[in-house]
Amino acid sequence: MPFPYELVAASADCQLLAAQMRLERAAGRAWIEATARRRAEALVAHARERSPYYRERYRELAPDAPLAELPPVRKRELMSRFDDWATDRRITRAKVERFLAEPGNIGEPFLRDYVVWTSSGTTGEPGVFVQEAAAMAAYDALIAAQADVREWGPREVGRWARSSGGGALVVATGAPYPAIVAWRRLARINPLLGGGAYPITLPLHELAAALERDRPAFLSTYPTMALLLALERNARRLAIEPAAVWCGGECLSPFAREAIEQAFDCRVHDEYGAAECFAIGSACALGAMHCHADWAILEPVDRAGRPVPPGEPSHTVLLTNLANHLQPLIRYDLGDSIRVLAEPCACGSPLPVIEVQGRSDDVIALAAPGGATVAIVPLALEAVVEAAVGAVPFQVVAAGPAELRLRLRHGGDGAPGARARSACRKALREFLAAQGAPDVRVMDDAQDPVVDARSGKLRRVLAAAP
Ligand SMILES: [Zn+2]
Repeated sequence: MPFPYELVAASADCQLLAAQMRLERAAGRAWIEATARRRAEALVAHARERSPYYRERYRELAPDAPLAELPPVRKRELMSRFDDWATDRRITRAKVERFLAEPGNIGEPFLRDYVVWTSSGTTGEPGVFVQEAAAMAAYDALIAAQADVREWGPREVGRWARSSGGGALVVATGAPYPAIVAWRRLARINPLLGGGAYPITLPLHELAAALERDRPAFLSTYPTMALLLALERNARRLAIEPAAVWCGGECLSPFAREAIEQAFDCRVHDEYGAAECFAIGSACALGAMHCHADWAILEPVDRAGRPVPPGEPSHTVLLTNLANHLQPLIRYDLGDSIRVLAEPCACGSPLPVIEVQGRSDDVIALAAPGGATVAIVPLALEAVVEAAVGAVPFQVVAAGPAELRLRLRHGGDGAPGARARSACRKALREFLAAQGAPDVRVMDDAQDPVVDARSGKLRRVLAAAP
């Protein structure tokens, strides 16, 4: 393909910002910490001035109270005080809900140039988050800064030239989750950067055929799906040559990372993000996850909310998103357990290294006719269940290669009724049949979803009953 001048020009802003970030960070840890402090002060001042919720929350506090003295905030409270939270007073829950009710609005602008997405309900409590254009520009640049084309060798350039030039995103596409929203938005404002978005629920052979047809320059998906595609590549059932693979949305294990790297023979990028902050961290070439500490402050804390020293795993982490002033997240309880490493990374980056004990659901192997096995990635099953019953706590347990057990709450707020349960089982059976496992039984489990005793989190797809 010809050299993409238009693409370079159209993405110049993003590249410029990314280059600026790289330059600034070269000033070292002290600069990064001072910048974060300055941005946090501006964010808190803005929240106090424009958000009725924060004004009320901070009423008793001194105007110059340090960040560590501000009370943490939680999703449930922010959602219940939604209309008082945003600093643009036009943003209301009713307006956002109306906007989200239209499936065609995924990635479309809300109130001129805002972006809306939701978090999936890992805690059974979905969040709705609105981002301003400046926040999106920062996220884009933080992610683009990882792909420095100056580091490309002849292999990457050759692959780029033989590709369509676009990316391929394989995720849950049916709901306004951050990945698909950000992707559609990028494709809308810059068609040259766009590429194909493929539902995670596509049968693997159909996905492989679509990817081969579209020849993506980049592949972006969940680690479990990247691993599955790597195995397809090794089995010679997938002939694509991306210049790089991007993973996010789940934890990427060192094993999976190596397997994906070997199968595709390219760099594997690993992003840590959330609906609350799209770009929290990125892994370096050595595989260490670096926090974007100039744009996101992470405070690891124990069960009682006390700071946890470097080297020790936290109970949860308080996030302050420095990029988005629209719906301020200041010391927000993100729910992830992290460990901040005391030692600097051998890669030379001044950004702190963290380990995230985040989402880790199981890939499950199910029986297919003729003695074959079909591997199903957890986020595909989750997409099917959420489409059927909405964001309620659930658990899918593989009770063997030929039986799935669906756990939905039997009582209490928002527990699905008999009709919803049956519709969900039907949706799962149809999904499994399309994946090539038509004989797998899907049973209703008498038990409610069980929270993992060690992490306190709900693991939604389990290879066997705990
Ligand atoms: Zn590093």
